[in-house]
Amino acid sequence: MNEKFDIAVVGSGAAGIAAAVSAARAGAKGLLLDKNSAVGGIGGFSGLTTLCGLYDDAGNFLNDGFVREFAEALHEDTAAQQRRPTDICGAMLPRSLNQIKMGRVWVLPYRPEKFRAVAEKLFSSLPNLQTRWNSRVENAVVENGRIVSLNGFGVGAVIDCSGTAEVARIVGAECLETDETTQASAVIFPLHHVTRDLKSAADVVQIMLPLARAGFAPLHFQSNFGGDFVTVKFAGQPEQVPQLINFLRANIRGFENCSTPLKEFSVTRRAGRMIVGEYVLTGADVLGAKKFPDAIARCAWPIEQWNSAGEVKLRYLPPGEFYEIPARSLRAAKIKNLFMAGKTISADADAIASARVMGCCLATGEAAAKLATVVFE
Ligand SMILES: Cc1cc2nc3c(=O)[nH]c(=O)nc-3n(C[C@H](O)[C@H](O)[C@H](O)COP(=O)(O)OP(=O)(O)OC[C@H]3O[C@@H](n4cnc5c(N)ncnc54)[C@H](O)[C@@H]3O)c2cc1C
Repeated sequence: MNEKFDIAVVGSGAAGIAAAVSAARAGAKGLLLDKNSAVGGIGGFSGLTTLCGLYDDAGNFLNDGFVREFAEALHEDTAAQQRRPTDICGAMLPRSLNQIKMGRVWVLPYRPEKFRAVAEKLFSSLPNLQTRWNSRVENAVVENGRIVSLNGFGVGAVIDCSGTAEVARIVGAECLETDETTQASAVIFPLHHVTRDLKSAADVVQIMLPLARAGFAPLHFQSNFGGDFVTVKFAGQPEQVPQLINFLRANIRGFENCSTPLKEFSVTRRAGRMIVGEYVLTGADVLGAKKFPDAIARCAWPIEQWNSAGEVKLRYLPPGEFYEIPARSLRAAKIKNLFMAGKTISADADAIASARVMGCCLATGEAAAKLATVVFE
């Protein structure tokens, strides 16, 4: 067997970043594997620009610790940023400089390149954390109900942050599937030089009608940083994006000069795969704001369901409420040293449609590292 690690983390999205940093800070000799060539996962590479699930209804942080540290490190310190929240929200003052209210929820606008840079800086400060890029998890050896090696490395504990439960797949741990019909995929891309205000529903309808008549699949606009920049979530195919942008430029007021810096487009999947743990968090727990004696994280994000027509249905918690995630939802049911974080936690299709947002992934990543640290010690 090759080198031995106390904790191996698979996947370097929001959950994996939190898990790897927290494990190394707790003194573990850590290994982080990702099939991609760099850190970031969906949060760093898909074109997303809003970090959801950080705040309660009043805009206060739901979780402290690494979640808050990472969110604050994404802070944009420009004069424009300092003006933006009051420009957008009118009289409503945000609880921290960067966050904004979208409908009933607070979100943190961020730049994906900063998301990656913050993670890289954290990793470089931790000599006991080794990263292996372009490394797909391919094999694991299980002895007496414990994973003893992963890709040939000896391991004390493993945290599956792959989003699609790749470690569980290899070791044959029981998984739950999400419902693709309520978690439709989307092509996400930024659109620059948009001079039209997209905040009123009437304005958005005026844009959607000609798009629908021209045969385009629906899209969602998210104005994040103010100015002339929006994030688009498109329910169509990646190859249709250049055509869509040309249509917007030619036919829609305020989009005459719009462009995207991206050269390639890809589909990002909302649905993941969850590993069955000691407790399966349910949609009823989420909507009932359930609390647990072994709670390790809080979340207040609504259950978000997206159909293939690009329509979203949001089911909210009672006003002012949050639910908790128990430690048991982060421990695999049958493999003693396998933990999960982010999109792989033990949750049913409804619960993960809330708990998959990045603020929650950061919280479960940090908590999984704490649980794993106890196991390897
Ligand atoms: C269309 C869409 C819009 C969304 N909008 C928002 C939003 O506005 N705000 C928000 O907060 N959340 C949003 N989400 C949800 C959120 O982005 C994801 O649920 C979250 O980022 C998942 O984080 P994660 O760390 O669990 O997994 P991921 O970010 O998916 O990271 C998984 C990592 O594991 C690696 N990996 C996978 N398989 C292997 C393997 N076999 N071997 C090694 N490595 C592997 C991948 O390369 C990747 O780096 C959206 C999701 C989608 C799809």
